[in-house]
Amino acid sequence: MRGSLVVGNWKMNGSGASNQALVTALTDCQWSDSVTVVLCPPSVYLGQVQSLIADSSLVLGAQDLSAHASGAYTGDISASMITELGCQYVIVGHSERREYQQESDSLIAQKCLAAINAGITPIACVGETEKQRNDGETFSVIRRQLDVLISTLSTEQLEKTVIAYEPIWAIGTGLTATPEQAQEVHQKMREQLAGSGQNMTLLYGGSVKADNAAQLFSQHDIDGALVGGASLVAQDFSAIASSF
Ligand code: PEP
Repeated sequence: MRGSLVVGNWKMNGSGASNQALVTALTDCQWSDSVTVVLCPPSVYLGQVQSLIADSSLVLGAQDLSAHASGAYTGDISASMITELGCQYVIVGHSERREYQQESDSLIAQKCLAAINAGITPIACVGETEKQRNDGETFSVIRRQLDVLISTLSTEQLEKTVIAYEPIWAIGTGLTATPEQAQEVHQKMREQLAGSGQNMTLLYGGSVKADNAAQLFSQHDIDGALVGGASLVAQDFSAIASSF
């Protein structure tokens, strides 16, 4: 279902003490009831953050999951494990995992299936490199990445998936796609997702900050943001969540 969503990807940051300070500060912040705000800490802190957000409207998410249900996959975490820890969302196929763990489009689609089958909403990330954008390949790259999801998931499963458009050149660089550039890609994604596209939540990610969030969220096809760096500072993350 299409809705306003702000997701904080803490990446490999945090400690017991800093998590407590950040989440405690966030539980004192306010934003519209119509916005869902999700925190995705490193997996070892999911239990801690679950306890800290228990009496708040904040929602828990994981940064990754295995496509497998269980077995000899050292270091991996299954959908049922993150469900047990209270996760309602999971980021899948972040560009850092595509690059450093060589995750393929088909593996990412399998991970989405594992999440959906466990009742968790996958946030599937797509996006082009700077070179691909400069070479005019943005739409073909996104189309190829989405095609694998479309051909693997049923319509019903696709509509349970959130897509995050994250141009790789904008992640952690301070460079943000302009609202027009982001809107253009989001519109194309909705077109490609056809009937399902109208029902799906599409996020933008890439150096979203308190001072650019409102303009991005005012675009017709942008429903929210996947936020990295700014999600580690309560005031900044809360300001983004309040920008609708
Ligand atoms: C991200 O990690 O998905 C991200 C968008 O990071 P940042 O907001 O720091 O660019």
